[in-house]
Amino acid sequence: MTARLDGKKALVTGGGSGIGRATALAFAEAGADVAVLSRSQDEIDAVAHEIRGYGRRAEAISADVSDAASVESAIKRTVASLGGLDIVFANAGINGVWAPLHELEPDEFDQTIAINLRGTFLTLHYAIPFMMQHGGSIIITASINGTRTFTTADASAYSASKAGQVALAKMAALELARYAIRVNVICPGAIETEIDVNTNQRDTDAARVRAIYPDGQVPLTGGKPGMSADVADLALFLASDQSRHITGTPVFIDGGQSLLV
Ligand code: NAD
Repeated sequence: MTARLDGKKALVTGGGSGIGRATALAFAEAGADVAVLSRSQDEIDAVAHEIRGYGRRAEAISADVSDAASVESAIKRTVASLGGLDIVFANAGINGVWAPLHELEPDEFDQTIAINLRGTFLTLHYAIPFMMQHGGSIIITASINGTRTFTTADASAYSASKAGQVALAKMAALELARYAIRVNVICPGAIETEIDVNTNQRDTDAARVRAIYPDGQVPLTGGKPGMSADVADLALFLASDQSRHITGTPVFIDGGQSLLV
């Protein structure tokens, strides 16, 4: 049976591109009304247009997930425009600056933590009260970096933010089980999106090593990264009733990358 979300109301943060866009469209195709949030109005307007193409309601909300007032008003707007909130995909994130720990500036560290970890906290913090009466599903996008170091030396802020998301998801799952709200966390390996383009990666030995050895890094595909649609299928499963007995679980989706470390 295909996972369905008929009548459900969903919020997707970072819904303007990559994994978030693919998931917002998968949710809409499965029958959900979807609010998409990102910092760029243009990208979410385009996704909202595509969602309406599935005959679903869509709302495009420009907001910064690291800003409390911005997230609070985005959640209220989602609930007002869609008529409720059943599913939250807390997915917005950045790679930020990749540099050796002793060279990473404190404000560079703070920015990555602010968007990836504080942003996830704020999204859950403001969304939960609207879900407590009837239950629902929360899915967080972390990374295999949340539990593995893999080949990503220089990614200390990113990895710390992702490990924080995994811990946050487990605690939220425990706290929210009594309200029938499930919380799970997706840990992707390399997925082909815009995120690497926007990485501020310093020129280091580790960066040079990464650049030359992708072959075999993803056992299932002979080195090719996964696609956003691969992750969207997992998010759809975790959002739907098909995963009704799963909560507090980090799910790796990496073509076997994490088997190598
Ligand atoms: P992407 O760059 O295509 O999408 C990121 C989205 O987040 C964009 O819509 C962007 O506008 C939005 N965003 C960024 N900062 C924001 C902010 N402050 N407020 C609101 N929106 C903001 O990248 P992606 O690969 O689809 O990333 C989605 C998630 O997947 C991220 O959390 C990322 O860390 C995680 N992830 C990606 C990979 C990968 O290889 N692509 C691997 C592991 C984890």
